[in-house]
Amino acid sequence: MKNIVIFGAPGCGKGTQSERLIDKFGFYHISTGEVLRDHIARGTELGKIADTYISKGQLIPDELMLDILSNLLDSEAVAGKSIIFDGFPRTVRQAEELERILRERDRQVDTVIGLEVADEMLVERLINRGKETGRADDNLDTIKHRLEVYHNQTQPLQEFYTNNGLYKAIDGSKTVDAIADQIALEIERI
Ligand code: AMP
Repeated sequence: MKNIVIFGAPGCGKGTQSERLIDKFGFYHISTGEVLRDHIARGTELGKIADTYISKGQLIPDELMLDILSNLLDSEAVAGKSIIFDGFPRTVRQAEELERILRERDRQVDTVIGLEVADEMLVERLINRGKETGRADDNLDTIKHRLEVYHNQTQPLQEFYTNNGLYKAIDGSKTVDAIADQIALEIERI
């Protein structure tokens, strides 16, 4: 069972590349953003709480995210499968806790794929995605705030995963196919 983190700023292509990995390697995909949007769409209590943060481009508190993640990992759908974590961890605390949560389940993070894309290109991609999908947090004000949050709270993880030797930088400005090929090479190396 492999456990891969796909890491990078909003709009760097985590979702798109995760889809490729599901097709190619049969990974179980955990996208915390999708889980939260699903709760919002169903109007659950968790969805109501999540919406107050997501609509402002803020992160959901770590404790809540860690509960959601532990529950997901204990679900039958995940048992025995390789996992791709998309959008989690997003803070150093989440990364530290992820190590513990995985260790308790005889798992570990095997590699971290960092999709690196300049801010200007991220903004352009997110605005286009907003137009195409109607995703509520893909509007210019929220996008700007999400990028700030990324640089302040999430980017420090790059150092965390570089220091423990897991971080693999990939140029996320290339074509979807070129990036997918490079990620596949990294995964085959594990
Ligand atoms: P995403 O689809 O990964 O871009 O996530 C959309 C939004 O969901 C983020 O802007 C956060 O508000 C929230 N979110 C998703 N994953 C996390 C996480 N690991 N920690 C905190 N908030 C998250």
